[in-house]
Amino acid sequence: MSQLSPTQVAFDQQHIWHPYSSMINPPATYPVVAASGVHLTLNDGSRLIDGMASWWSAIHGYNHPVLNQAAHDQIDRMAHVMFGGLTHPPAIELCQRLVDMTPAPLQKVFLADSGSVSVEVALKMAIQYWHARDLPQKHKFVTLRNGYHGDTFGAMAVCDPVTGMHQIFSGVLPQHFFAPAPQTGFAQPWDENDIAPLAALLEQHQHEIAALILEPVVQGAGGMRFYSPEYLKRAHALCRQFNVLLIADEIATGFGRSGKLFACEHAAICPDILCVGKALTGGYMTLAATLTTTEIAETISAGGAGCFMHGPTFMGNPLACAVAGASLKLLVEQDWQAQVQRIERGLNNGLAPAAQLPGVSSVRVLGAIGVIELSDSADNRILQPMLVAQGIWVRPFGKLVYVMPPYVMDDATLAELTNSMVSVLQKYLTS
Ligand SMILES: *Cc1c(COP(=O)(O)O)cnc(C)c1O
Repeated sequence: MSQLSPTQVAFDQQHIWHPYSSMINPPATYPVVAASGVHLTLNDGSRLIDGMASWWSAIHGYNHPVLNQAAHDQIDRMAHVMFGGLTHPPAIELCQRLVDMTPAPLQKVFLADSGSVSVEVALKMAIQYWHARDLPQKHKFVTLRNGYHGDTFGAMAVCDPVTGMHQIFSGVLPQHFFAPAPQTGFAQPWDENDIAPLAALLEQHQHEIAALILEPVVQGAGGMRFYSPEYLKRAHALCRQFNVLLIADEIATGFGRSGKLFACEHAAICPDILCVGKALTGGYMTLAATLTTTEIAETISAGGAGCFMHGPTFMGNPLACAVAGASLKLLVEQDWQAQVQRIERGLNNGLAPAAQLPGVSSVRVLGAIGVIELSDSADNRILQPMLVAQGIWVRPFGKLVYVMPPYVMDDATLAELTNSMVSVLQKYLTS
């Protein structure tokens, strides 16, 4: 196992950006030298229980023999070949799986490099669709506050304006319409008033709106909020009523995380355009996809451009497609729903005591997602090392201390993870 020297670790601090990091006095990063199952091994030999699944993605755990085999088999044949004018078995097999497992109307697949790119692709599809229908003025988007859709410009313009720091990019970002975040919780009785602002926006601006983009049922990075499936049902009906497309960003929720294979199933709706990513390759490498209906795909293709205007260099990378195909096969061939329900029970039981701690404002669980929300933002320079010292990898974000473990985490390890979270928070909040 390769060991990092203190000089190398210092190099990281001095030269390498990390996600949303500062280059002035950056907080410590923990060198990982191996990962297997639900554990990360650090440079100093210590092992952490991983609560993050590398940001929703490593659903089967790390170093999985089946996914490793798929990667080895593919790399020995060909790691990459361009997708313009060529195709290959891993892309075909993966897209067949995606068409089979998503709602029936979604028949056409665009393979994208990352979640953000799949959102760009979805936005462009919506714009090209209305352009092809001779309604080019329909080129704005509606979205929800507390939403997160990625870091590229198009995606950033539909992220929450506060957490997305829109004021820094004002003048550069296109201006879209923002409805308030849904207020009715996942299991709360439906309140008709909750949908009124979105209904008013759509009614007033329908002639300039191409699509509504939202994260179905679970708002992820913008607040880890679980909202009523009834909201999603109403939003879907409003889109139909006002001739606006619905883009479901299931990059975080897709592939079982919320307890359904896709979170849209909680509301029994099918979006016009669906983005998936994150868990698509089981956390092995970057890959995402945008799916749409035959009608939308054919309308775009019959439009002035005569094609869909996107085609990245590494589109349909065979290595990523091969691992993604293997990961989806692994998912559907096991009782993933029982696994996720088991994790949900473990999170509910294990995190419940946190609700009694001073400074905790809410504890909530949906599917294999567990959230402890604090009254104030945590100081990660203090909290992060405490979590690591306790043997768990949990990365707090603002007021949120949350986990979305690999589905393969056994009950004892899950209990250790949640107990450690609660005991660290108890120390942190009472010191
Ligand atoms: C992570 C995420 C994205 C962005 O995906 P990247 O692969 O990081 O570009 C977009 N939407 C949602 C809901 C996400 O959780």
